[in-house]
Amino acid sequence: MTKKRISILGSTGSIGTQALEIISRVPGEFKVAALSAKANLRLLAEQVKKFQPGLVSVPTGQSARELRKKIPGSVKIVSGEDGLNQASSLKEVDLVLMALAGSAGLNPLLQAIEAGKNIALANKEPMVMAGEIITRGARKRGVRIIPVDSEHSAIFQLLQGKKKREISRIILSASGGPFRNLSRSRMAEVSVEEALRHPTWKMGKKISVDSATLMNKALELMEARWLFDLKPDQLEVIIHPQSIVHSLVETRDGALFAHLSVPDMRIPIAYALFFPDRPELDFPRLDLAQIRELKFEKPDLNRFPAIKLGFQALKVGGTLPAVMNAADEEAVSAFLFGKIGFNKIVELIAKVMSQHQPGESKSLKEILEADVWARKRAGELINA
Ligand code: MG
Repeated sequence: MTKKRISILGSTGSIGTQALEIISRVPGEFKVAALSAKANLRLLAEQVKKFQPGLVSVPTGQSARELRKKIPGSVKIVSGEDGLNQASSLKEVDLVLMALAGSAGLNPLLQAIEAGKNIALANKEPMVMAGEIITRGARKRGVRIIPVDSEHSAIFQLLQGKKKREISRIILSASGGPFRNLSRSRMAEVSVEEALRHPTWKMGKKISVDSATLMNKALELMEARWLFDLKPDQLEVIIHPQSIVHSLVETRDGALFAHLSVPDMRIPIAYALFFPDRPELDFPRLDLAQIRELKFEKPDLNRFPAIKLGFQALKVGGTLPAVMNAADEEAVSAFLFGKIGFNKIVELIAKVMSQHQPGESKSLKEILEADVWARKRAGELINA
């Protein structure tokens, strides 16, 4: 049996480490061809020793020199944007797991598609920024993008065997985050630590804050729109605090299909890694009798205006989603550094979005210009 050869971008992050854990459970199934990481060189060196990739990518020449001392000389180390692009387009690779954080994933993703690699996509921000360009490129190259994001993995699975014209609605579920029941005034005072403590999912910092503000759901609306080629009015959001129903698909005859599992990211990661196969894995099973009931509620748009921004970006389209994404990255980073309070994150994004004149976003250049503009504007508002 031939092994699936995989490149993992963002191998020391939450998704990357879980993917490697899955890979180590199924010896003989995968060959790790390349790894990339940003800051955790100690863990990266351990991963290199265990999985023996031929290529490793790190951000700078300095980190390359540091890593060199820790790993065998036979492993090629590359650095910078060029290094990341090499790791994403290696000739022998069948699948690239994109698990970088934020907009940094855009260029390597485009490179991987250009090189005709199938993608397991965990990094949603590039899809928010340039979903149309990405999906068009993927179609042209015959590249499959298999979502890792739990909601989108659920939808992807639910759509198997259904025709596009049969689909009436897609309902994205949202846990509501750690502050689901908090008043807006109490939310203003939450600490970074509280924002990072998600009730049902264990994730990286950026996505944990995005989940607390519900900006994550705003980004996921855009992600779903492009991944599944939907019209804006086909998308809805439902709050489901238990994170058991990962999303739902409604067909035109009124049937509603849901995907259920325990909230464990290894399940959607494994699905994307093994696709089109579904292997036997001993992940925890759902015990419905023990759960007894599933709870759903309408999102409160006054306490969580992020959802409104998501629908606005969805409806207006063009460069506005890229602006929303860039402002969010800047605002989250400012929050993590203690420069702004929690409620200011979404207020800031809303302000930047309202000051933007959306362009058509037919070109990458236009999108990147909007991204730069939004970061600059957000920075000015943060420092004001
Ligand atoms: Mg998600």
